Amino acid sequence: MTLTREQILEEMGLGPVWRLRQPAGASEAVAEVSPDAPAKADSAAPMPLAPRPRAQPAAGSVDAVDPTGADALGWPALREAILGCTACALCQGRKQAVPGVGDENADWLFIGEGPGAEEDARGEPFVGQAGKLLDAMLAAIDLRRGDNVYIANAVKCRPPGNRTPEAAEMAACRPWLKRQIALIRPKLIVLLGRAAMHAVLGEERSLGASRGKTFEYRDGELVVPVIVTYHPAYLLRNLPDKAKAWEDLCLARRVMRGQQAVGMDLPLSPA
Ligand code: SF4
Repeated sequence: MTLTREQILEEMGLGPVWRLRQPAGASEAVAEVSPDAPAKADSAAPMPLAPRPRAQPAAGSVDAVDPTGADALGWPALREAILGCTACALCQGRKQAVPGVGDENADWLFIGEGPGAEEDARGEPFVGQAGKLLDAMLAAIDLRRGDNVYIANAVKCRPPGNRTPEAAEMAACRPWLKRQIALIRPKLIVLLGRAAMHAVLGEERSLGASRGKTFEYRDGELVVPVIVTYHPAYLLRNLPDKAKAWEDLCLARRVMRGQQAVGMDLPLSPA
């Protein structure tokens, strides 16, 4: 079923009317903006990419030596290696590892936290209610799962009780994610939630303090802009923050347009 933009924004909890606060000092009146208004707000010039806050590498960061040999793997071998991985204790409770899904040459890479129960059962990231919301978020910026979009998680196996993955688990799983990024060579990475932000950027600040900024992911010669937003599962529990997620998606779209406008295509050969 094809949803209209109004239905998509409704699904995100932003319809039928999106209210924008006036800047401080302006009239107390709250402007009522039609559901098309966010697209208008996004029609500004492409977001310049520099300067960007430079994330500090995490312990065992992407620059660390890779003990798994993942750096040498192509897609089929990488998928097999992830499916058979026992590098951390999360392997013990999984039905199956969940490597990721989508276009392996995508411009857009979305990274979440880890598989939940449904993902563990089906072997695909972001299914169920959170997945439905992610699909609506993608549709709101004219994207579709699998079409120029790849979706992965910071850890590939389900943490028990859907708890947040521990730092050691994310570090153990990082070589797989690092290799996925190196193979995809996306033009933009969107991190969904604080755990993904920590896993990819080593960024320890709160998600709220990191939103609205453009970070960089660096791995050798590969440099990819990164933005962060809320995890869909969080948004399902915190409906008012959907409006902030929409702002983040608008930022993501501007950054992507900036990438395309200034011809910042990345080198084709893997690092
Ligand atoms: S979470 Fe990652 S490192 Fe841990 S067992 Fe699964 S694939 Fe391996």
